[in-house]
Amino acid sequence: MSASSKPAFKTLDHAQLSGQRVLLRVDLNVPMEQGKVTDATRIERILPTIKEIAKKGGKIILLAHFGRPKAGPDTENSLRPLAKVLADQLGQSVDFANDCIGAEAQAKVGALKSGDVILLENTRFHKGEEKNDPAFVKALAGLGDVYVNDAFSAAHRAHASTEGLAHVLPAYAGRAMQAEIEAIATALENPTRPLVAVVGGAKVSTKLDLLGNLVKKVDVLVIGGGMANTFLAAQGKPVGKSLCEKDMLDTAKSVLEQASKANCTIVLPSDVVLAKAFKAHAPSRVADVDHVAEDEMILDAGPRTIARVEEKFAEAKTLVWNGPFGAFELEPFDAATNAAARAAAKLTKAGKLMSIAGGGDTVSALNHAGVGEDFTYISTAGGAFLEWLEGKPLPGVEALRA
Ligand code: AMP
Repeated sequence: MSASSKPAFKTLDHAQLSGQRVLLRVDLNVPMEQGKVTDATRIERILPTIKEIAKKGGKIILLAHFGRPKAGPDTENSLRPLAKVLADQLGQSVDFANDCIGAEAQAKVGALKSGDVILLENTRFHKGEEKNDPAFVKALAGLGDVYVNDAFSAAHRAHASTEGLAHVLPAYAGRAMQAEIEAIATALENPTRPLVAVVGGAKVSTKLDLLGNLVKKVDVLVIGGGMANTFLAAQGKPVGKSLCEKDMLDTAKSVLEQASKANCTIVLPSDVVLAKAFKAHAPSRVADVDHVAEDEMILDAGPRTIARVEEKFAEAKTLVWNGPFGAFELEPFDAATNAAARAAAKLTKAGKLMSIAGGGDTVSALNHAGVGEDFTYISTAGGAFLEWLEGKPLPGVEALRA
C-alpha cells in the first residue's frame, strides 16, 4: 500500500489546543561540545511548532531524548543545557524538570499557564522509554491532554514518547514532522517524473534494502561513492585497492537485474579519480573505469561521469539524494559531490527540479558543497530517512494516522 492510500495523519490544523497540556515530542539530540550546541538546525526546525501551540493557547511540555544513556540518569546526557538554548531561540523562558515523570514534573506542569514552555529531562533515563512500556507511557500521558509528535528523526523507533503516547492521547503531527513526511511522500510516493535517485556512500551492505526499494520506484538510479566500486567489480572491472565488498558481488548483480526488470536506468561511474593513498591532496589521476591499476584506489567519480549525472538531473523533475560520490572529506576527492550537488541546487533554484536529500553524511556533504540551503528539502533525520527510503513503515508516523 502506498503512503498516499494510507489514512492521512492529523496535524495542528485539527487539534484543539487552547488551555490544553500539550506533550510535544521533539528532537533535541543535537551535536554538543563543552555544553555548547554546534549545529542548531534541529532546534530551529521545531520552533514554528512550539510558537504555534503557544499562540493557540496550549501549555507546552517538551519531551525528548538525548544520546544513549545506559544506566539511568547521568549529567553527560542531561537535557538541562538545552532549556537555556531553547529559551534564547524562543525569546521566552523555558522551565526544566529533573525527571520526565514523577512529582516534580507533575507540580511544574500543573503550574503552567497558556503559552508557557517546560522541558522535561531525557526520556531515555527510564528503561520504559525504549521498551515502550505501557506503565511508563501511562505516567507520561498523565502529564498531558494532547500529544504532538514533531520528531520525525526518531519515528523509526517504537518508543514510549515516539509511538506509545499516540495510542493513548489524541495525537497530531507537528509542523516539522508534517513538512518531513510531505516532502518525502511527494518525492517517493507521488513524484513528478522523471524521478532520479543518487545513492552514494561507503558500502552496499548498509544500503541493500534501500537500493532494492529504489530500483522499483525511480526512473534513474545513480550509484556513487565506495559502493559503486562493488558494482564495477561485479561487472568485471578492475578496482585495484579500492574499497570494495567482494562478498557483495552477487548482490550487486541482482540489484542490476532488478533494475533492468523494473526499467530503471542505472548510472555507474565511467571514469574515476584514482590515488594511491587515502588522504587529502594525495597525488591523483583521472582514468577510465577499465584502467584502474592494482595499487590504485577509486576515491571519486570523474568529470565524464559527472557530466552524465548532470544530464540526468537536467532531464529530471524530482531528485532524491543519499550519500556522497566520493571521499568528500578529503580534497580534491570532493569534486564530483560538489559539482553534482551544485548542479542540483541550480536546477532547484530555477524551479526545474524538486530535490530532497538526507541520511548520514549527506547533509554535511551538501553543506560542504555550499548548497545546504538550496535543495527543496533537506532531512535532518538519519536512520528514519533511510528507513523511509527503504520503504519501511515508520512506527512513529504510522501511529499518527487517524
Ligand atoms: P555513508 O555513511 O554510507 O553515506 O558513507 C559516507 C562515507 O563514504 C564518507 O565518509 C566517504 O568518505 C565515504 N566514501 C565515499 N566514496 C568513497 C570511496 N570511493 N572510497 C572510500 N570511501 C568513500
